[in-house]
Amino acid sequence: MKIVRSKNDLIDSINELEYQGKRIGFVPTMGALHKGHLSLIEAAKKRNTTVIVSIFVNPTQFAPDEDFDSYPRREETDIEKLKLCNVDLVYIPSVKDIYPDGPQVEIKASDKGNILCGASRPGHFDGVLTVVNKLLKQTRASIAVFGEKDYQQLFLIREMVKEQNLDVEIIASPTIRESDGLAMSSRNSYLSPEERQIAPQIYKNLQQIAEGSSIEEAKLNLENIGFEVDYIEILNNKTLEPTDIAEENAIIFAAVTLGDTRLIDNLSKK
Ligand code: AMP
Repeated sequence: MKIVRSKNDLIDSINELEYQGKRIGFVPTMGALHKGHLSLIEAAKKRNTTVIVSIFVNPTQFAPDEDFDSYPRREETDIEKLKLCNVDLVYIPSVKDIYPDGPQVEIKASDKGNILCGASRPGHFDGVLTVVNKLLKQTRASIAVFGEKDYQQLFLIREMVKEQNLDVEIIASPTIRESDGLAMSSRNSYLSPEERQIAPQIYKNLQQIAEGSSIEEAKLNLENIGFEVDYIEILNNKTLEPTDIAEENAIIFAAVTLGDTRLIDNLSKK
């Protein structure tokens, strides 16, 4: 596995791959890799691509009071995991490689970037779209894989790719969960043992809503055991407009805080 730490070295590697006629499958991450990330790599491999994974904790998607500094950084173990998955190249750029003029937002999300997580994290998706746009251009990927765990992000990336006329196919990959239902997340490592024990209640309550119980009841359930609920909403997965759970394409979104940890999840009512 090639380890590439600068934009210039990446350009050399991509030129070589393109010369060999390889199609590039790209999986962007912020590292602290878990089985959720690895499932995206498998999805890229299935499509017979040369797989590039990036590890970059993107400063422009964190607000000043968020966890940019404390975000888990586990480069050594990440590299070992990627080698075991037979990834072809890992790109670990510096901030300067991505933002030569200093970290700043260049892409604005549509108004769907202001709902759900965007309502409590203003500007977050502008930062996400800015870095994804840059990484897609730097890697010249034919396909890029994103997790449905971050459904709003996936939705906005699809919009951005269309808007910017990027020649890349965006692949959605399903959420990977712990055996007790908790969606895997790099931020789960922030949870205390007590918090980790109750964290699966997020998914439990999403399942109960899917089976007909009310959003209000779910909120109360979660608040009663120590969660602070940011939102629970049912939206149409094609439009992100409010809908009813009985409707086709309904998807239930939740964001909660447990102690100091913000967790998100969603469940499609198939
Ligand atoms: P992150 O490192 O958190 O920025 O995530 C990188 C990619 O992994 C994004 O496309 C996420 O949606 C995806 N991802 C994160 N957690 C999961 C999960 N539990 N299952 C599937 N994909 C995930």
